[in-house]
Amino acid sequence: MKQTIILGAGMAGIGAGLHLLKRGVDVTIVDQTEPGRETSYGNAGLIQTEAVEPYALPRDIGKLFMIATGISNDVYYEISNLPSHALSLLKYWWYSGPSQYGKISKAYASIISRSTAEHAPFIAEAGAEDLVAHDGFRTFYRDGREFEKGIANAKRLFETYGLGSSVMTGRQLMEAEPHIQISGAGAIHWPDTWAVRDPGSLVVAYADLFRKLGGKIVRGDAQSLSPSGSGWKVTTVDGPVEADAVVVALGPWSPTLLQSFGYDIQMVRKRGYHMHYRSDTPLNVPLMDMANGYVLAPMLKGMRITTGAELTKEASLAAPVQLKRAHKAASEIIPLGSPVENAPWSGTRPCMPDMLPVIGEAPKHKGLWFHFGHGHQGFTLGPATGRMLAELMTGETPFTDATPFRPARLF
Ligand SMILES: Cc1cc2nc3c(=O)[nH]c(=O)nc-3n(C[C@H](O)[C@H](O)[C@H](O)COP(=O)(O)OP(=O)(O)OC[C@H]3O[C@@H](n4cnc5c(N)ncnc54)[C@H](O)[C@@H]3O)c2cc1C
Repeated sequence: MKQTIILGAGMAGIGAGLHLLKRGVDVTIVDQTEPGRETSYGNAGLIQTEAVEPYALPRDIGKLFMIATGISNDVYYEISNLPSHALSLLKYWWYSGPSQYGKISKAYASIISRSTAEHAPFIAEAGAEDLVAHDGFRTFYRDGREFEKGIANAKRLFETYGLGSSVMTGRQLMEAEPHIQISGAGAIHWPDTWAVRDPGSLVVAYADLFRKLGGKIVRGDAQSLSPSGSGWKVTTVDGPVEADAVVVALGPWSPTLLQSFGYDIQMVRKRGYHMHYRSDTPLNVPLMDMANGYVLAPMLKGMRITTGAELTKEASLAAPVQLKRAHKAASEIIPLGSPVENAPWSGTRPCMPDMLPVIGEAPKHKGLWFHFGHGHQGFTLGPATGRMLAELMTGETPFTDATPFRPARLF
């Protein structure tokens, strides 16, 4: 394969583009907007080595009750949006069961463990070191019993995956974060997770590197994709672009495009919001408030609050209920100043019911490749799964077993 079009210039599209370029492929990325302006822009900026197990649907009655009654801030939904999610949620429920989840986590860990190793050379080549902090990430517990459960889980993750962490008492947390106002029960520190101070700018830096290495990025509408001879064609502002192969890396928009090629793809659309606050007393290290389901992260623009999952339809209006609650809870932790933006940003995590990204060639179309569905960790995973995709496309042996990620599993 000599030429490839990649549809989508988020972390997934750019990550794949860089790996393909490095294998001598002529790559054009097509996006309707500038690189890194959508989901890859507004996330919590964590390159999450601690997320070795994907985010499952809670199956214990207590947690489900809290979600159903709106007590939990982790998940929010409007009843009218649930029917559109019924089938994908049912599947998500099934895959979250113990035996399925064990196999899924093993596959997930194999790509998560590769994430920083794939980001590191791109960060260096892009000259983006200033955007990335290496001081880890913390999960904060207000309640003693939940803290004990968190410690037991961290111990299990160490025994299963060798994942490092350390336990901090409330006092130790307050020493490490002098502006914190409440100690809670304590925190768990995950030292190997990296924190990006402006996620959108990291994607832009990777996009600049992509151009420097000879790749092209043009504006165009992915919906114009059509077969052309033995390859593919898409219309761009610079005219038609043709290639032997095309990669769909449209994040949450991928199913819409693929519907017109006969692929009915169920995705659990989990919307999240962010807002920045001016703060003279920021945190040093990003913190997840486990009782309230949000992340508080120091960013170049201010302290960014990112929320949990809102189950939405594609065209649903913004309903930043979780952000309001998160802001109240975060204000207890540190003084938050005035908001930087007038309105919150929102974006959608592209989650597959089996929690694994979709990586490989389409079952019914030669030269049509999938690279989407990275869910809660697409910012982390883009370069690692981009490597896997490039290896598959160029006939190399993938760095880890690619079978669990193959598109055919969805149909
Ligand atoms: C609140 C929140 C917090 C998160 N926190 C983290 C985190 O800390 N760490 C982490 O790893 N992940 C996190 N995530 C998840 C992560 O952001 C996503 O998994 C990831 O950004 C998906 O990347 P992508 O490239 O697949 O999609 P996107 O970044 O959305 O890219 C898709 C691209 O497709 C383009 N596109 C769409 N339609 C068309 C069209 N018709 N024609 C042309 N182009 C089109 C868009 O313009 C866009 O550039 C978070 C997500 C949210 C919402």
